[in-house]
This record gives sequence, structure tokens and C-alpha cells, in this order.
Amino acid sequence: MPQPVDSARSIVRDAKRIAVLTGAGVSAESGIPTFRSNGGFWQNQRFEDLATPQGFARDPKFVWQWYEERRRNIAETKPNAGHHALVALENRAEQFTLVTQNVDGLHDLAGSKNLIKLHGDIWTLRCTKCNKEKVDRTELADLPPYCDCGGMLRPGVVWFGEMLPEGAIEKASAVVVSADVLIVAGTSAQVYPAAALIPLALRSRAAVIEVNPEETDFSSDVTFGLRGPSATILPQLL
Ligand code: NAD
Ligand code: ZN
Repeated sequence: MPQPVDSARSIVRDAKRIAVLTGAGVSAESGIPTFRSNGGFWQNQRFEDLATPQGFARDPKFVWQWYEERRRNIAETKPNAGHHALVALENRAEQFTLVTQNVDGLHDLAGSKNLIKLHGDIWTLRCTKCNKEKVDRTELADLPPYCDCGGMLRPGVVWFGEMLPEGAIEKASAVVVSADVLIVAGTSAQVYPAAALIPLALRSRAAVIEVNPEETDFSSDVTFGLRGPSATILPQLL
């Protein structure tokens, strides 16, 4: 009897167009807490205060202190075997696109190239006045930070109730619709519109491979459900 991982591997091997959707779970083994995990960083704080435009408008310094603490924690981490496996897959695939909900920058650090960041990037700072963006990984001493134009800078991430970066979900949807296989790793698939990429793939011709230690709302519909941590399972798909 072939194991699901063997069948999934042969699908990935034969695929010409590979799409991948990742979430916080792929960075869990790098030491970054997921959104919903026990002891996750949201547990002690109300997300309305930290990850909404209203929260930022109320108390930008408080929001920035929390983001700066996250930035320093993430700066201590490095990509794991799951991130590296996705780079190896990209290097050998005919067409490959990685769509991520993560803001930690670990896919970039691992060397992923064709990357769509649906929820922005914690290392990007954006001006609330002139909209200019800059990448800054240094420790931000004075919070909140300001732009040269005098406007206040905000974290370049997508908050609850905000639009995704222009064109990002459209581009990701087009990739998924034309993919032979969609690998979904480390996401609870509860944050929309990102999660809608999974039923979109199921309705089109893509095989869907889910990599997650836990079941999700889509687990009963996917082609292969590989239950385990992504740093172990993703390398096995190569
Ligand atoms: P989530 O926290 O809702 O779900 C995480 C999923 O990962 C769960 O289904 C869990 O079972 C699974 N998981 C846990 N450990 C795993 C492992 N070792 N390997 C594979 N899977 C594992 O995360 P989400 O679905 O990405 O949604 C959360 C939102 O919060 C996203 O919008 C994201 O932008 C943001 N976020 C980002 C980061 C990050 O950048 N690292 C971290 C936390 C939250
Ligand atoms: Zn500015």
C-alpha cells in the first residue's frame, strides 16, 4: 500500500505548475508562535488593540512597542527545513509560486524568489501620510517612528479589516487556478480571503496537499492530508 506521502510526492514530481500557500505553522518550528497556538502571542493581548487600524489610531506607541518586540524575537530566528524544502522545490519546478500569509520574512531569508506576501511584511515600514515604504530591520529606538516627510510610519502588515496589497489576491488566485498542485502548509485556513484559495484550487483541476499536524475545515476535501509538522513533511515531498 503506498502511503499518502508517497502518492503526494509523485504528484509533486510530475507537476509542471506548483502553487504553495503557507501560514504561521511553517514558522512554528523556527520558534515563532502561531496565531492560535497555546501561548501564542495574541493570547495576552486583545487583537483589536494591536492589529487593527483603530487600535493604531488610538495608541500608536503601544502598537509599535508590541510590533518592535515581535521584530526583535523574529530577528533571532532562522528558516527551518520546511522553508528550505520549498526553495529546493522552486529551483527544480517549471513554474512555482509561493503565496504566504506570513509576515516574518523567513521565506525570503531561505531564498524563495517567486513569492506573494498576502499580509505584508513586518520588516517594511509604511508612511501613513505619503505612503512611501522602506525596509528596516534595525532596532527602532524612538517609537512611533517617523518618515522624512513628517508622517508617522506604521508596520507594513495587513491588519484586520484592511485591504490586501493591491493585486496580491488576484495574482494568487490566477496562480492557483492554473496550478497542477496546491500545497497548503501550516495554515488553519480561517483568515479570508487567503483561505478561499483552497476551495478555488479544489474547484479547478489542482490536486491539493495539506500539510498540518491538525485537521482544518478543508481537510475532508483535500486530495492528500499529510498530518505532521512542516519541517518534517515538506522535505519528504521532494
Ligand atoms: P494560524 O495560527 O491560524 O494557524 C496555524 C496552523 O499551523 C494551525 O492549523 C496549526 O495546526 C498549524 N501548525 C502548527 N504547528 C505546525 C507545524 N509545525 N507544521 C505545520 N503546521 C503547523 O495561522 P494562519 O492560518 O497563518 O493565520 C494567522 C494569521 O496571523 C495570518 O494572517 C498571518 O499573517 C498572521 N501570523 C503570521 C505569523 C508569521 O509571520 N510567522 C505568525 C502568527 C500569525
Ligand atoms: Zn512620508
